[in-house]
Amino acid sequence: MKLEYNYGALEPYIDKEPMEIHHDKHYQAYHDNFMKTIEGSKLEGKEVKDILSDLNSIPEEIKTAVVNNGGGFFNHGFFWSILKKDVPFEGEIAEAIKEKFNNFEEEFGNAAKTQFGSGWAWLVLDKGELKIIQTSNQESPISKGMTPLLVIDVWEHAYYLKYQNKRPEYIENFFNVINWEKVNEYYMEAK
Ligand code: MN
Repeated sequence: MKLEYNYGALEPYIDKEPMEIHHDKHYQAYHDNFMKTIEGSKLEGKEVKDILSDLNSIPEEIKTAVVNNGGGFFNHGFFWSILKKDVPFEGEIAEAIKEKFNNFEEEFGNAAKTQFGSGWAWLVLDKGELKIIQTSNQESPISKGMTPLLVIDVWEHAYYLKYQNKRPEYIENFFNVINWEKVNEYYMEAK
């Protein structure tokens, strides 16, 4: 699997080395374990997105492994897609965010800071409504019928090498690497 930009493209906010480990080791492992898990099952050959969108279709004996590894595969793939440095906050999504939230950075940042332990903070579209939500471990909003628009990974592996225990600083810097053009694209597709 290939990252669509250079590992160092998000510096100085997310450094090359953590990015390389995050993508080539963590993400790759989720992918490989997911593929191994569904191999030989009735899910083999299906898209991860379709599988996670319908948890009831997953055979009980592999459900936990699929949620964890498939979730890790899907959530990271989505995360890589919304990262880009210095993209202006504009487009219909920017207007919708300003209308919905008093202080988006603060509210989204708080969701990311207060996610206890490993997980993610998301901006999603839920039945046409913009919402900020948290998920634990590798749970994904697509399993709850929501459409993800934006996400931050707050697992320690995402920031510890550069920021150590300073999760708030990582989150603050994250706002410099949001690909608002892509987020807008997801929003236009979903609404
Ligand atoms: Mn991660």
